[in-house]
Amino acid sequence: MSQPRLTTRFAPSPTGLLHRGHALSALTAAALADEAQGRFLLRIEDIDADRSRPEYEAAIYQDLAWLGLAWETPVRRQSDHLDDYAAALARLRAEGLVYRCFKTRREILDDIARAPHEPPPAYVGAPLPAAEEAARLAAGDPFAWRLSMAAARARLGGDWDGLTFVEQGRGVQTARPEAAGDVILARKELGVAYHLAVVVDDALQGVTHVARGADLFEAVPVQRLLQALLGLPTPIYHHHPLLLRPDGKRFAKRDQGETLRDLRARGVTAATLRAELGF
Ligand code: GLU
Repeated sequence: MSQPRLTTRFAPSPTGLLHRGHALSALTAAALADEAQGRFLLRIEDIDADRSRPEYEAAIYQDLAWLGLAWETPVRRQSDHLDDYAAALARLRAEGLVYRCFKTRREILDDIARAPHEPPPAYVGAPLPAAEEAARLAAGDPFAWRLSMAAARARLGGDWDGLTFVEQGRGVQTARPEAAGDVILARKELGVAYHLAVVVDDALQGVTHVARGADLFEAVPVQRLLQALLGLPTPIYHHHPLLLRPDGKRFAKRDQGETLRDLRARGVTAATLRAELGF
């Protein structure tokens, strides 16, 4: 069988203006594709309707074009594909791998604090008894769909210990998804949450290599588990070191004066920025 063409993606959330760290992620992903005459995709991760803004999406296209990047069109916008995520969630539901959690953030934090562990574990819960759940649903109470790590583990059996992935430059890594606890995969009011959308999209878009910042390295175990549960392929991962500000802190969307738009306004050219970032 012929190998699929190497395919990478840059997947920003349009919740703010892009900064240098985003430029590094986008350039890293594009360079990986370039070197292999592969494909470079752009994906707009706009499932959070409260925080996503059309002006930020427009700025993403503008900033990336300024950087000299070209991506395939049409661009996949997550908000246009909620049915795909709903279908994945329905599969997990049909197999009893997710449950409705009605707890508030406060209640979750209290539960975690009460658990007799050191360090405090991530949240692990259980479905409500059927009658109680029916009453909460009838009352219209908000809930989140959580992945049951216990059910996932039972479902995978011996394959649980074989959950591995390749991190470029570091070789085969073992995924330990249980450390994340029963993660939220969707909310009642928001059809899907980050991990599920990313895993479904990477598979649907034929992404073979995921290049992104090191802060998302810890997202891999849960994403690897979802790939196994949904029968999806696992890409190769490449997490680049995070860019730090001169004061040693991470760049954040709220940083003033350091967005790509600000750099451009100060007369920094794309060539200068690319060179600074090692491209
Ligand atoms: N949308 C995520 C972010 O902006 C990135 C997701 C990913 O690359 O997997 O942080």
